Amino acid sequence: MGKKRGGAKAQQKPLEDPVLRGIIMGIGGERGYEIAKLLAKEELTDDELAKKIEIRVNLVRRILYDLYENRVVSYRRVRDEHSGWYIYYWRIDPERAVGYFNENKRLLLQKLEKRLEVERSAMFFGCQEGCPKLPFELAAENDFKCPRCNGKLEPYDNSNVIKALERQIESLRQQLVGS
Ligand SMILES: [Zn+2]
Repeated sequence: MGKKRGGAKAQQKPLEDPVLRGIIMGIGGERGYEIAKLLAKEELTDDELAKKIEIRVNLVRRILYDLYENRVVSYRRVRDEHSGWYIYYWRIDPERAVGYFNENKRLLLQKLEKRLEVERSAMFFGCQEGCPKLPFELAAENDFKCPRCNGKLEPYDNSNVIKALERQIESLRQQLVGS
């Protein structure tokens, strides 16, 4: 954080990597990607970015904030000696962004795998109204009546749910970069 201006010069890596591009576009859209490309060359303030891209500084700030929340960009804060205000110099952090992205995907993958395990092992019951499904024990406790609408509970075929989960899991595994 305490480096001099120009310390970001080490980040010469272009942003053409499709995964990184996908991450940035997913968060900040085309504008976000434009901002990222500029930050890959040098550290810039929000005002400088707004001038270069010719969009309102408020919009630049919003995009920067979204990128920051997703660990794509970081900033260095410097106090302006004349005005006493803080100036934020933004830079891009491609490796951190990919790491954070992978971490999120991994957590989601774990959740889906657990859910798949539950779907595979349990027998579910549902009503005609589409209320939430119940596992066998709960359905039996309720005398096979839906606790929401009081409709009759029938065994629910969850093979489509299982297939959908398997597809999602497979695609997540493919998205995980370098692991
Ligand atoms: Zn119901």
